[in-house]
Amino acid sequence: MVKGKVYLVGAGPGDPKLITIRGMEAIQKADVIVYDRLASPRLLKHRKPGAELIFVGKLPDKHMLRQEEINQLLVDLALQGKVVTRLKGGDPSVFGRVGEEAELLADHGVTFEIIPGITSSIAVPAYAGIPVTHRDFTSSVAIVTGHEYPNKTYTALNWEHLAKAVGTTVFLMGVANLDHICHELMHWGKSPDTPVALVRWGTWTEQATITGTLADIAEKVRVANFQSPAVIIVGEVVKLREKLAWIEKKPLFGRRVLVTRARSQASELVNLIDELGGEAVEFPVIRLQPPSDSAAQQALDAALDKLHTFDWIVLTSVNGVEFFWRRLRERGIDVRRMANARLAAVGPKTAEALAERGLIADLVPAKFEAEGVYEAIRSELMPGQSVLLATADRARDYLPAKLRELGMAVTEVDVYENVLALEDGEEIVALLQNQGIHIITFTSSSTVTNLFAALRQLGVEDPLHLLQGVEIACIGPKTADTARQLGLPVTYLAKEATVASLADSLS
Ligand code: SAH
Repeated sequence: MVKGKVYLVGAGPGDPKLITIRGMEAIQKADVIVYDRLASPRLLKHRKPGAELIFVGKLPDKHMLRQEEINQLLVDLALQGKVVTRLKGGDPSVFGRVGEEAELLADHGVTFEIIPGITSSIAVPAYAGIPVTHRDFTSSVAIVTGHEYPNKTYTALNWEHLAKAVGTTVFLMGVANLDHICHELMHWGKSPDTPVALVRWGTWTEQATITGTLADIAEKVRVANFQSPAVIIVGEVVKLREKLAWIEKKPLFGRRVLVTRARSQASELVNLIDELGGEAVEFPVIRLQPPSDSAAQQALDAALDKLHTFDWIVLTSVNGVEFFWRRLRERGIDVRRMANARLAAVGPKTAEALAERGLIADLVPAKFEAEGVYEAIRSELMPGQSVLLATADRARDYLPAKLRELGMAVTEVDVYENVLALEDGEEIVALLQNQGIHIITFTSSSTVTNLFAALRQLGVEDPLHLLQGVEIACIGPKTADTARQLGLPVTYLAKEATVASLADSLS
């Protein structure tokens, strides 16, 4: 019988980039991923296509599967020959019960690996500007369960020792017992002035911190209704937070930003949002594909067949260049057929896309709107010349009309079209309903109209109502106009029509 294998993986504290490379590899090769609440769901998108997901999420009051059942599940899956990745928040050995899971696997002769993770007990304080040790303050740190009472899940704590001999104490699972923890530590001699911090959902977008002292923190937590999951840090190092808090200073800290552009184009914006401290959520409402209309296909192919006859070829976007080349290749057309044409590339990115293919654009209008392109191009063109305009389905008539007025022979072709995409739509609607999205970015008019169309298709009757209170960021004036026409007030407008400038406008 084929035996599977189980990877017991530490997912890190939440920020999906805080996982080890080995842990990521285990996610990528798993047939089944068994995960719980504290392992970031954002990691799951790296699974291979078709991988099964099993949520065994533990909520403090409600265990979806008892630990024994989880242990058995891992054994069963492995014995079916599956590669199983068990994803656990933080490090699997730190109050992660990896020992129990591994023991049962060992009992059944199932091969397993333990892949450590970054534990919340150290990482979460660090994300709140609290290093758990510091030469000036403490030479020891203890990681302690705060869940001892009333369930007695773990063996009894030596409170006297903790109070007297340990520098920094980090409690996990302790929010509900905070009164008791503070009481015991003070009872055994820790000063009531000892600084305390609680950090909840550390390294997640929801990260929040509250500070006080042993004497007053429990009351503060009650008043603020500060809920688990949180780590509790007790010790002088907490004072360092005043100086060292860093993540809260990032411009998009705590903000979730919807990226609506096509997935193939989204990565630059996603990375910029991440660098600014925000969480990018991808909801590509656009998919790019070759023209589906047969007349448009024929027009494109006819133009490509007489590529050598054009005096000018105008490419208006990176996508335009990509689809243009794709079709050249499919049709077996040699790019040297356009050797006689001069090339205009709208915007530096388009010029770069040409440069990657060994072509230096003769003209690069800096302005992205058709009016600007026309102004740049008009003095270069001569009446009677033939121009190939390679655009997309939503392009406007302005440029071809003006060029024709100048006496050019204009051939206009669509090299690709935008279609509506709906991937992961339910999740996005739920996030919007829970006020979980703070900013929406639009990188073209069609992202705006498609978002509305996508939401309607997902059963949202009044998209505008759903988007109320969400800030809107637009890449350019045309996109902003479209947003306003649909009733969305525009909060951020990029200075230049680039993704970098759009991200800049958010900070
Ligand atoms: N194995 C995990 C800990 C599991 S015990 C680790 O190494 O991090 C679960 C407790 O961990 C929670 O009750 C909470 O105290 C803490 N915890 C885990 N992730 C956290 C996070 N992102 N922010 C705050 N506390 C967290």
